[in-house]
Amino acid sequence: MVRRSSVFARQDVAKLMEHWTADVVHSTIQDILTHWDCLDLQDTIQWGWNPRLRTTLGRAIPGEMRVELNPLLLARHPGHVRHVLIHELAHLVAIRLHGRQAPHGGAWKQLMQKAGESPRATHNLDVRDLRRKPARRRRTGRRLPKIFWGW
Ligand SMILES: [Zn+2]
Repeated sequence: MVRRSSVFARQDVAKLMEHWTADVVHSTIQDILTHWDCLDLQDTIQWGWNPRLRTTLGRAIPGEMRVELNPLLLARHPGHVRHVLIHELAHLVAIRLHGRQAPHGGAWKQLMQKAGESPRATHNLDVRDLRRKPARRRRTGRRLPKIFWGW
């Protein structure tokens, strides 16, 4: 089991950020917005790494037009960064263009497809050691709920 604070995890996170620099993230955002014909939203969008995220890959905060990415989980799965960025951006753009609606509804799905991404809203990555309180599992023996991306 890899502990959150382990040297290995920190090295992976450093490597992730070395690749996904602010410039690279910005140009990726620019690229995606161009695909969606809404490059004018570029200046309204904020993003950041949020190390407090546990089992979600990222989240969108529509009120702040902000996207947050999970550095620890993405350090283990660096191939997912672009997809997660698109997933969360699609939330912001869907709401901006169409108002409040089902989080993974039609407008969101359309944006995902337009960006050439699968409109799946969950992931199957192993996050057991990232859960906040693994001991809190219910005694009923029910399975833990499926993990959702941000929202
Ligand atoms: Zn989502």
